[in-house]
Amino acid sequence: MSPARRLAGSQPTCHTDLTVATIPTDLPPPTHPVERLPEEWEAILAEWGEPRYRALQVFKWIHQRGVTDPAEMTDVPKRLRARLVEEGLSLPLTIAHVHESQDRTRKMLVRLPDDRDVETVLIPQLRNVDPDRDDEEDEVTPGRVPGHRITQCISSQVGCAMGCVFCASGIAGLERHLSAAEIVSQVLAGRARLTEGEALRNVVFMGMGEPLHNYGAVARSLALLCHQDGLNLSTRRVTVSTSGLVPEIDRLATDFGGQVQLAISLHAVDDARRSELMPINRKHPLRDLVAALKRYPLPKRRRITIEYTLIRGVNDSDAEAKELTRLLRGVPIKVNLIPMNPVPGSPLGAPDLSAIERFQSQLRDQGTACYVRAQRGDAIAAACGQLALHGKPRKVKTKLPTIRD
Ligand code: SAH
Ligand code: SF4
Repeated sequence: MSPARRLAGSQPTCHTDLTVATIPTDLPPPTHPVERLPEEWEAILAEWGEPRYRALQVFKWIHQRGVTDPAEMTDVPKRLRARLVEEGLSLPLTIAHVHESQDRTRKMLVRLPDDRDVETVLIPQLRNVDPDRDDEEDEVTPGRVPGHRITQCISSQVGCAMGCVFCASGIAGLERHLSAAEIVSQVLAGRARLTEGEALRNVVFMGMGEPLHNYGAVARSLALLCHQDGLNLSTRRVTVSTSGLVPEIDRLATDFGGQVQLAISLHAVDDARRSELMPINRKHPLRDLVAALKRYPLPKRRRITIEYTLIRGVNDSDAEAKELTRLLRGVPIKVNLIPMNPVPGSPLGAPDLSAIERFQSQLRDQGTACYVRAQRGDAIAAACGQLALHGKPRKVKTKLPTIRD
């Protein structure tokens, strides 16, 4: 692990699912009070003539208890509360709309201070009705019902610059990066809307945007989300999903020691096809991506998630299933197959169920763990790749891939 500082006031953790007690040394400075780490609060409070220990109190109020109104910070003296009011602690977003689907998936329209919108989704994990069964968290099998453990899917950018042809965000293009405060506030606002008995269990960067294209803000938000005096999410339960920005995968590996769960959007097993689907592949071809995965310092018994959006006649052949296993030999993986969600105006779509099952069997026959991702919240278009821009998006020119019969 690279030189990293232990945060002020943090204690060594004693469980193996490490929470992040370190932050990358070269984080850009905070742009909003909500994204200050405790040691940054200490520096500010010192300037205000306040004692060090108040830093952790303020940090805990915001990130552990979700309180941003200084009036409610009962153990903070009045003069400091007044100073915090001047500082302006409120979250830099509002929830403009919540749409709930039958499976209790809640899609929230997030309005940013400049009136741009992104989305975040609360997804109840499926649980087994039979307590003796032990399926994968997101495996769809009969007899599973939505439970009280919530996975939250968050956005990292307004739109996305990567231009993947099957993705609504990619087709719309990038409008801007989100700040760390805007990223973490999605989680704070989401947690505040959980109902009795529900608990936030996982956070996945699978909403709008390419998280590793916005590395500084995403790294800061990881340090905040996993801080033991804050939301205290385990790093293994925070997943960064990327289309394959190789230098930033290496940076993540260095900054967080391989503790953060990595998901790679693969979607094709040869460079020609992958470049058609995902323009980033021209810059970082498969050989370089696979090499980065091989050097990712994955903790023991952990696997990298490979996301593979199945598109009819494009990437769903038997030969491609076989090649996937060969390509990633030597990397501990599990494959999540995502039947392509329809994108308005696109002729691309998912294969039929029998073709999806066949692709899955091919992978399993070769010993690769493979699951078909549950289609959650489909009815409200909250599924992956459907988090489209509202307003007037700038359209990126995309060229359709050749589709086989
Ligand atoms: N930019 C990141 C994370 C956001 S997208 C990434 O690409 O990994 C989350 C997942 O949804 C990615 O695997 C993405 O490829 C996939 N996805 C995008 N559009 C989709 C669609 N129309 N149908 C199914 N999956 C899609
Ligand atoms: Fe961006 Fe991911 Fe969509 Fe590609 S799939 S355009 S990287 S959000």
